[in-house]
Amino acid sequence: MSKVKPVGPIPQGYDCLDGELAISGSKVSALVSEHGSPLFVYSKRLLDLRMECLRNAMPGSLHIHYAMKANPYAPVLSHMVKLSDGIDIASGGELAMALKAGAQANKISFAGPGKRDDELLAAIEAGVTINIESPSECDRALAIGTKAGLEPRLAIRVNPDFDLKGSGMKMGGGAKPFGMDADLVAPTVHKIVEAGAHWRGFHIFAGSQALKADAIVETQAQTIALAARLAEAIGQGPEHVNLGGGFGIPYFPGDEPVDVGLIGDALEKQLADLPKILSKTQFALELGRFLVGEAGVYLTRIVDRKESRGETFLVTDGGLHHQLAASGNFGTVIRRNYPAAIASRYDTPADEVVSIVGCLCTPLDMLSDRVQLPVAQVDDIVAIFCAGAYGATASPANFLGQGPAKEILVS
Ligand SMILES: *Cc1c(COP(=O)(O)O)cnc(C)c1O
Repeated sequence: MSKVKPVGPIPQGYDCLDGELAISGSKVSALVSEHGSPLFVYSKRLLDLRMECLRNAMPGSLHIHYAMKANPYAPVLSHMVKLSDGIDIASGGELAMALKAGAQANKISFAGPGKRDDELLAAIEAGVTINIESPSECDRALAIGTKAGLEPRLAIRVNPDFDLKGSGMKMGGGAKPFGMDADLVAPTVHKIVEAGAHWRGFHIFAGSQALKADAIVETQAQTIALAARLAEAIGQGPEHVNLGGGFGIPYFPGDEPVDVGLIGDALEKQLADLPKILSKTQFALELGRFLVGEAGVYLTRIVDRKESRGETFLVTDGGLHHQLAASGNFGTVIRRNYPAAIASRYDTPADEVVSIVGCLCTPLDMLSDRVQLPVAQVDDIVAIFCAGAYGATASPANFLGQGPAKEILVS
């Protein structure tokens, strides 16, 4: 018989109503009969709660930015524009979406390697801050600004000489395509100032998906120290320092939530005792998945139930084309199970071991591998949690001609 594999922890804030999973008070059967399946459901209430909890933990002066690549769905983005102090974008496409969602240009910052000239021009025209990733990108931005008769707002993205320990995705330390090495920073800032452009400060992002608070605290301390060293070399304090983010969410068995209280207390102390050159600096965190990941659920309907050599497969109308990360094919080395449930039998005892697969004709399309769940039949609804970030837009929706899933934001 097949060996059971554990699932990740179901996030807090979800209820059971009449035996079904309810999201912000709406039963999944009602959501799917109204909107169809597969369906991404995001909860405004859970977005609000998460931001409130984070603000309560963090120093009052700290800005919280939303990295919109985690979830750019327009209603979610508009809501995050209201909740956050800034929007971090990574393309010209995201710039257009952020402006349309009501973000103010002076609260938008644009990072990412390989910005094209047309994207730099659009950002300069809009008046957003560009996080410059290399000396040659700086030259292009200055030339585009001069030609347009505009004064670009430029920050330097620094490739830190440390990484965020325990992070799922390292974005600093060693040779990286992101940001510029420390020795290039001061000459580049001098060039910006001499060209008459507006130097905004630094963007220092060391990694992503970290769950250990002490590792995040250590990285923030190193980031502030690095910003101070760079400012001394430049001879001027930065207006703004983006400290990065990296707060993760529990996806897998054994993962524990980040202790934001501990991070907030440590940061409060650090901001109260800053090196003199940073005394007028505004600090910000940029977070993606931490703000939105647990506020979304992916719902998919069972279309077939079948046996093969003693194992049971629940075949759904969804799959990796909407939830690539849950299939284990988005930057994970070992495939582990995301939190999952039979949403239409949410309080039924888990009596059988099944694998939940998608409808794509590839063995990669596995949503849950040998998990213990209530006995489910055709038309039951499967929920895959932690679908609020890197779901719909980080999955190959057009693979096999399937097309995107519908998305909704509920109260
Ligand atoms: C992707 C990205 C983020 C968001 O990462 P999360 O893990 O979703 O918090 C923040 N900043 C930068 C520069 C990024 O590239």
